[in-house]
Amino acid sequence: MAEWALPHINLELCTRCGACVEQCPGHAVAMTADGPSFVQPFNCTYCATCEGVCPQGAIACTYVVTWAPGKQHPLSTAESAEIKKRTSASSAPSAVRP
Ligand code: SF4
Ligand code: SF4
Repeated sequence: MAEWALPHINLELCTRCGACVEQCPGHAVAMTADGPSFVQPFNCTYCATCEGVCPQGAIACTYVVTWAPGKQHPLSTAESAEIKKRTSASSAPSAVRP
């Protein structure tokens, strides 16, 4: 098992629209010359917001992450609840560039 789970990005499907970068609450992913990249990987809470907003299905949370009893990601409490609220309120991408 990997020490840290990150979403998988398929750069062949990615159109570099930037939606995942704009919506990532932890600023874990940023746009580079090669496409979106995990520039702050330890900020990723594996919330799946990026997966939800990607219009191409190019970024995906492919692991099921479970935390040991009494443990949780330091960013995963109130922020996580807010993310779930936002993503369940709208199934359509909210920041997609043409
Ligand atoms: S899973 Fe969440 S925190 Fe991680 S890169 Fe995607 S939007 Fe950002
Ligand atoms: S949202 Fe999808 S298509 Fe847009 S930059 Fe991110 S991975 Fe690429």
